[in-house]
Amino acid sequence: MQYRSTRDFRKTVSAAQAIAQGICEDGGLFVPQSIPHLEWKDFEQMRKLSYVERAETILAQFLTDFSAKEIHSCVQAAYTDQKFPGGPAPLSVLQTSSCTMYLLELWHGPTCAFKDMALQLLPHLLTQSLKKIHTDKTAVILVATSGDTGKAALEGFKDVPGTKILVFYPQNGVSPMQKRQMLTQEGSNVAVCAIEGNFDDAQTGVKKIFTDETVRHALDAHGMMFSSANSINLGRLLPQIVYYISAYCDLMNMKKISHEGMKINISVPTGNFGNILAAYYAKEMGLPVNRLICASNANNVLTDFLRTGVYNRNRPFYTTISPSMDILISSNLERLLSSLTESDIQVKEWMDALVSCGHYQVDSQTLSNMQSIFWAGFCDDTQTSAEIRELYQTENYLCDTHTAVAVNVYKQYVAATGDRETPAIIASTASPYKFADSVLKAITGRVSSDDDFAKIHELSAETGTQVPRPIAALQDKPVRFSDSCKPAEMFRKALELTGADV
Ligand SMILES: *Cc1c(COP(=O)(O)O)cnc(C)c1O
Repeated sequence: MQYRSTRDFRKTVSAAQAIAQGICEDGGLFVPQSIPHLEWKDFEQMRKLSYVERAETILAQFLTDFSAKEIHSCVQAAYTDQKFPGGPAPLSVLQTSSCTMYLLELWHGPTCAFKDMALQLLPHLLTQSLKKIHTDKTAVILVATSGDTGKAALEGFKDVPGTKILVFYPQNGVSPMQKRQMLTQEGSNVAVCAIEGNFDDAQTGVKKIFTDETVRHALDAHGMMFSSANSINLGRLLPQIVYYISAYCDLMNMKKISHEGMKINISVPTGNFGNILAAYYAKEMGLPVNRLICASNANNVLTDFLRTGVYNRNRPFYTTISPSMDILISSNLERLLSSLTESDIQVKEWMDALVSCGHYQVDSQTLSNMQSIFWAGFCDDTQTSAEIRELYQTENYLCDTHTAVAVNVYKQYVAATGDRETPAIIASTASPYKFADSVLKAITGRVSSDDDFAKIHELSAETGTQVPRPIAALQDKPVRFSDSCKPAEMFRKALELTGADV
């Protein structure tokens, strides 16, 4: 299996090269040249396997330059019981009066967000990849985060030999607990810096550094190379395909799939379009999917796009209670467009237009293709809070703000289409304790004390649920980082922190 740039199909690379490099030199993203296909018998086979074995089966189809033994050792090291005490991706069944939902809880890992599913595996894949491409360079991982990727990447890469990691986060765009998680990060190869701007500024800055020739040469001279832990890295996407297929196998085992090829719906709270893109790839591989439901918050650029075919980032940016979805430039959409159009020239044209004027419009064929697969909706903070309260009061299920958006939009889908029979998987992307302030306010209506940890204990006392261990442990950890810079200074910061002067 070879991988090519969304903006230039002529040049292809191996999976190892794509993972090591992170992004293409031309600014495009690496995509598989073809999507491997699963037969029904493969699902029958995989339903009998453990999560780790399912992951090995699926990854082997994409990582054709890795041996089975290499894949096994990577996957085995990532999804241990110690790191995922509740299992990597358990399903919780919610039977409401209007519909049944299967919440795919992806937040039982070390940082309590779904990013762990990929970022516990990526460092192993990356270290293997560096060996395969015969480089002895240190990989400098640059990360732009809307809150959860930063911590998950820091935790995944801390003290991994041959790597350094630098995380940029929007100064006023993350939850207090997300910030605390990052600023107390341990490890000798880690650094964290605030940006005086929003996530889009951070992501654009990081992409620019990646594709800058001068910086690349400076790093090269110091025996270093950049790589990415953002969802632009192929190594982030592949592990995310696994849990959708695994969830289907679990539904088969729960006897919820009554016949061969029975379709499901999947609702995903979406920001950078990475998680839902993995669901799309799973569908392309043969996962029986009726609709992928793209759920957004007030930053509803994707809702408009999937409804009208016009992508327009020229709009107000809202800071919401689901901060990991506060994004106006969804990078991974480029991969979807590449798959739908099969045209590098067309995708490059749209992406250039996005940079130069902030908008583009897809042709009617592409729009109708998208609409046959995706359904899109959004909800604001008031609706999100109401959804958290309702789920808690009627189902005794406590969910975080991002998951609540996916639930709300799924209910909108059911109301609009009448489709309540198709089993629905809801991607549950974070522990409610990461957003304790908003969750507590939603269920009690009270504005509580200022102290972040007091809120966490209050949420626990109020609901009788347990504070996840990694979050409770933060209380005693010292703050290690206090750097901040303007978006234009990210270059300098990156060089300063890597020690490679131009
Ligand atoms: C990152 C994140 C999202 C958005 O996922 P994308 O892959 O960026 O679309 C949703 N919820 C939570 C909790 C997240 O951390």
